[in-house]
Amino acid sequence: MAGKVYLVGAGPGDARLLTLRAAELLADADLVALDALVSDDIRAKIGKSAEVVYVGKRASAHALPQDQINALLIDEAKKGKRVVRLKGGDPFVFGRGGEEAEELAAAGVDFEVVPGISSAIAGPAYAGIPVTHRAYATSVTLVTAHEADSGSTGIAWPALAQLDGTIVFLMGFANLPAIVQRLVEFGMSPERGCAVISKATRADQRVVAGTLRTIEALVANARLETPALIVVGDVVKLHETIDWFSTRPLFGKRVVVTRAREQASQLKRLLEEAGADVLQFPTIEIAPPESWASLDRAIDERWDWLVFTSTNGVASFFERLFAKGNDVRALAGTKIAAVGQATAADLRARGVQPDVVPERFISTELLPLLAEDQRGIRTAVIRAEEGRDELLDELRRRGGEVALAVAYRTIAAENELDELRAAIASDALDVVTFTSASTVDRFFEKLTDDERARVLAHARLASIGATTSEAIRRYGKEPDIVAEEATVVALCAAVIEAVTLHSTR
Ligand code: SAH
Repeated sequence: MAGKVYLVGAGPGDARLLTLRAAELLADADLVALDALVSDDIRAKIGKSAEVVYVGKRASAHALPQDQINALLIDEAKKGKRVVRLKGGDPFVFGRGGEEAEELAAAGVDFEVVPGISSAIAGPAYAGIPVTHRAYATSVTLVTAHEADSGSTGIAWPALAQLDGTIVFLMGFANLPAIVQRLVEFGMSPERGCAVISKATRADQRVVAGTLRTIEALVANARLETPALIVVGDVVKLHETIDWFSTRPLFGKRVVVTRAREQASQLKRLLEEAGADVLQFPTIEIAPPESWASLDRAIDERWDWLVFTSTNGVASFFERLFAKGNDVRALAGTKIAAVGQATAADLRARGVQPDVVPERFISTELLPLLAEDQRGIRTAVIRAEEGRDELLDELRRRGGEVALAVAYRTIAAENELDELRAAIASDALDVVTFTSASTVDRFFEKLTDDERARVLAHARLASIGATTSEAIRRYGKEPDIVAEEATVVALCAAVIEAVTLHSTR
């Protein structure tokens, strides 16, 4: 089968502005060539079997020169692959899509162009600035301004300065002073509206609106970041009345969703619709350990104590035990510790009554419950490969013989966790939502002591109902927000109410 290249627009940033066609192609592409700018939410739509190549100019480590990008697209298509070249906004609006299409045509490779929503139109729309309006603008002009400060730009400044429609400058943020200067120099009124829209359509979008005369000072104060658009025209004044995006109740608030991914999607959507910047606490996927050796040792040898730190550890241990033809009688005479109520419950369900269970789902909370003198005591700790070592270290310090039994691995989307960790470190989380007691435990167990303290001190904790609230209290804090009934809709409403009450005070 002959391959094909799809030049696909990814839209301006908000993943929900991806077209249906783009989503469909991402789902069953063989190879996706990405710019660095594409959001995680869009990347999540790429099918599992696709190879992903970063070619974006911003990802300097992976950046490919344009001729190599072209060669890649052509070669892979010729191998018979469905190649998606995903570009920000629309591929033919300053996206070099035209050049790539020419190359593909010259090489005789079949291709399709999938338009995307351009930031040039959507950015202003998300800032409450319609690019055309019967009363203010009958035309809109898109200009690339990355060379606006040099003499030989090819930009028809005298003509632009005469336009009374809207002008949108892309790639021009660094040249804002030159743009303003030229427009005014060639006759445009300094009182003409001018806005800069940074990170348009994203949760951290920022807009500064004024006039050609005021915009530079406004921008200097606001410390805006790229990517950014510059909009010039009378339509800019509408920003004040019809800005719908940054006026949503949770705009600019960072809210954590801690539910398993599929269930999380509804809560995430509701919160995002209310304007929140939603961080997902990554769901943890469970995989078998690299080697069973240490778990087998925990099963085959005699131990004074077996410590189970999670329900997954319990499940894996017993599966392995049974697979070896053993049953719970193999544990006779062994003391059992369970970290957390859910872990204890899982042991009981398998006919094992744990001897000690700390209140909270934190492994170090076992330490006060175990003997101070561990000499001569053999303990196996059954847990994930990625766990924290404080418990083992402390038991060893007390003189005990301690073995780590790796029962499973957790594969978390660590990049999402990094984002969450960064937000916690700068005390930038506003709300953490919890939809079950186990998500409370999972969330806090994953954090370091310092991170836990920061979250408890700075973020508001939102609970879906009584059992979840009880789990939150075990960490020493009353939930700040409680849903009126145990649904994600009610939880979202409670978060909005709490946040808006707070900010008008
Ligand atoms: N093909 C893209 C534009 C590529 S040129 C499109 O149709 O949107 C890159 C420029 O687009 C940036 O310099 C910036 O001016 C603009 N841009 C792209 N995404 C943006 C965003 N989310 N917010 C503000 N400007 C953006």
